Amino acid sequence: MQVQAIELQKRIDRFQELCRTRGVRLTPQRLEVFRAVAASSAHPDAEMVLRGVQKRFPNVSLDTVYRTLWMLNDLGLVGTLGRRDSVRFDAESRPHHHYVCRRCQRVWDLMEHNPTAFAPPGEATKLGTIQEVRLEVQGVCTDCEKTDKAKRPPSKAARTKTTRTPS
Ligand SMILES: [Zn+2]
Ligand SMILES: [Zn+2]
Repeated sequence: MQVQAIELQKRIDRFQELCRTRGVRLTPQRLEVFRAVAASSAHPDAEMVLRGVQKRFPNVSLDTVYRTLWMLNDLGLVGTLGRRDSVRFDAESRPHHHYVCRRCQRVWDLMEHNPTAFAPPGEATKLGTIQEVRLEVQGVCTDCEKTDKAKRPPSKAARTKTTRTPS
């Protein structure tokens, strides 16, 4: 799930440009945090980013990584998904939707569908201005389905929430 070199360079150029125009100090460590998010399409969480950054900066803390990620979010360079306590970061800046596997927690970008073509519920228009409509499709990915099938024969019990008593 590596981002192509050309796309990565474009993202890094944009980051450097924004630092210049917004007066944000561009430190090698900040660049490394951004690179860790921008180089992967895995939608990493802060701990995954930390592991990537630690290869070059062994002393960097999770706290620093978090602060940098939220700064990047403020700059509009990095989007987020998921709940605040398990937030994941995304350097794909084009509007898009997500597919999230509930089993393995992997996330895929859905780029084909034009997000602006997705009409928000009428209720939402009454609440205020709509800036973005993001769709999160949740399911079980084909890899996890294969693993499930290999592990146990398909039965009713496997599909309902009934807990099986060990025999
Ligand atoms: Zn999965
Ligand atoms: Zn995404």
